Amino acid sequence: MPSLLTAIVVWLSANFGLPADYQFPRIERMSSVEMTRLRYQSIPVDQRQALNVRDARRVQSLYSVQKRTIYLRPEWTGKTPADLSELVHEMVHHLQNLNHAKFACPAESEKVAYEAQEKWLNMFGHSLASDFELDPFTILVVTTCGENGQ
Ligand SMILES: [Zn+2]
Repeated sequence: MPSLLTAIVVWLSANFGLPADYQFPRIERMSSVEMTRLRYQSIPVDQRQALNVRDARRVQSLYSVQKRTIYLRPEWTGKTPADLSELVHEMVHHLQNLNHAKFACPAESEKVAYEAQEKWLNMFGHSLASDFELDPFTILVVTTCGENGQ
């Protein structure tokens, strides 16, 4: 895993200007159901009624800022472009965390993460649309601050 993470950091740094920081995250396994539950719990109670499409989706991978840990599904093998793209996405959040990047809202931190994931998938002739059923409009919604600053 370390050499794979090194390659991803080099690639993210070269393509997206993220700091090349080699303090790697912990990698742990967690079921998609459990990740979805954790994700839901992280949303303030008064905002749960306004759950949008992003929150309704099953969570496939997750990053914990506090624990500096990337969570991947038990069935994750890293042998497909889609699997690797999840690691690329979460590594963006890890580098943002190490870099103490500030965002107007959580959705804003997703912009580069999805851009990097899309560019990675494109190298293999895949895309967020083909592999994750994420169309451009959905991506726009999940990467733009909402009216209530979500
Ligand atoms: Zn993300």
